[in-house]
Amino acid sequence: MRAIVLESGRFRLEENYPTPEPAVDEALVRVRLAAVCGTDLELARGYYTFSGIPGHEFVGEIAEGASKGQRVVADINVGCAQCEACLGGNVHHCRSRSVLGIKHRAGAFAEFVVVPKRNLVPVRASISDEAAALAEPVAAALRVLEPFGDHLPDKALVIGAGRLGFLVAQVLQRQGIEVTVFIRSDARRSQLANAGLSSCDAVDDAAWPWIIETSGAEGGLALAERAIAPQGTITLKSTIASPTRLDLQALMVNEVRLLGSRCGDLVAAEAWLGAGHLRPPTSIRFGLHEIEQAIEAARSSEWQKIFIEPNRAWT
Ligand SMILES: [Zn+2]
Ligand SMILES: [Zn+2]
Repeated sequence: MRAIVLESGRFRLEENYPTPEPAVDEALVRVRLAAVCGTDLELARGYYTFSGIPGHEFVGEIAEGASKGQRVVADINVGCAQCEACLGGNVHHCRSRSVLGIKHRAGAFAEFVVVPKRNLVPVRASISDEAAALAEPVAAALRVLEPFGDHLPDKALVIGAGRLGFLVAQVLQRQGIEVTVFIRSDARRSQLANAGLSSCDAVDDAAWPWIIETSGAEGGLALAERAIAPQGTITLKSTIASPTRLDLQALMVNEVRLLGSRCGDLVAAEAWLGAGHLRPPTSIRFGLHEIEQAIEAARSSEWQKIFIEPNRAWT
């Protein structure tokens, strides 16, 4: 099969990569559409030592057997099925987990990907491929709500309007939370306005009960520290790869909660998409042979989402 391989920080196309063979509890999935995300760019910069086929945001269809043709999305975390976390249903925190396209497991920038059957979630017909390919980041965005249970703050500041920030803002908006997005550049302001989201480029000190940091920039975290209200919550929703300084004394005195937040529930994400909540991001599509252009486009802020279409016949 044709596949993109990431090795030593470089993406390259392999024309004759061996098609993976599923074990009995796995399914062979033909990838319909995959999306490039910030994590893929981080992988290329060495955030994890990963080599192999990247790609963890995708929609595909079962390639063989009784369910052939069924469209599916997948939880990308594959647990060992034996440890305390796995047996307790908390696969996302299995210490020996593999993660599709991120850690010890081939991903979706290829014609086919193998996925454990228990990780697959069927996609209803009303959801387009473009929307379904975002199920994984939508699940991650929905995850920010979970620690609050029924007691969600009534307003929130989202820092950053990148691919994930845009989804987080939409999730909060649909939840009835008064949401403002902090952005420095004007480039995304109109995209936010089109989605009915308000934005700002300056914030008052100690004003926000909830701040979700999605920018991944050191300045983003510093801003969150300054703008968080006493007893507020800062949710960390992006990988800040460089070591960061925090004023721990201020966080302690003001009783601020600092919460990490990673992957979410794919079943909930599919239902959220099925309810028609997503405002589709601006996007562009590439073939596998155009991986360099795709990565370049992902590094620029012109498009909100970069899709790769592994099975289309490109000329
Ligand atoms: Zn991602
Ligand atoms: Zn486990």
